[in-house]
Amino acid sequence: MDLQQGSIKDLWKAIYNTGDLHHCFNCSTCLSGCPASHGDPPLLVRNLARKVILGLEEELLNDDTPWACVSCSKCEEMCPMDVKPFEMILAIRQWQSANDETRVPPSIVEIYKRGYTQAVGVNTDLRDKLGLPELKTITNNPEQLQFFREMLMKTPVVSANDYMFGG
Ligand code: SF4
Ligand code: SF4
Repeated sequence: MDLQQGSIKDLWKAIYNTGDLHHCFNCSTCLSGCPASHGDPPLLVRNLARKVILGLEEELLNDDTPWACVSCSKCEEMCPMDVKPFEMILAIRQWQSANDETRVPPSIVEIYKRGYTQAVGVNTDLRDKLGLPELKTITNNPEQLQFFREMLMKTPVVSANDYMFGG
């Protein structure tokens, strides 16, 4: 899938080529196993499918929820209609980025802060209490984290929005 800047029609074409989006009957099965559906705001795959089908271009362009997807593919396995919701989410992200080069996904700010999109390695007190060894992660290795941040800062999307990355 290689989306260039374009209208909602280009998004439709990309998505309709990957799955059977027109067969989505809004059953919500895709939400039942989705870890991001409990986020704030929640990622509601079913609603995204509706927005694409109805051609709600502005709403889709401004929707941050596709960036909360953690790529587990559960929705893909569970969907009874072979909509391929995960592929749809990737297409929406790509289309959003192609239309707004300054778009900074919230996950990049998290990655910059911690080296991860998720809170990995934060339960250090609990691990101590349970007698577990310290978890070696980039978050508790300042040298590696700094190196990683310097690499990220060289990417266009981060350097163009450096005010968001206070370190
Ligand atoms: S994408 Fe699939 S699982 Fe989700 S609402 Fe549509 S048909 Fe149901
Ligand atoms: S791939 Fe993304 S949208 Fe699908 S279940 Fe996993 S987190 Fe949710």
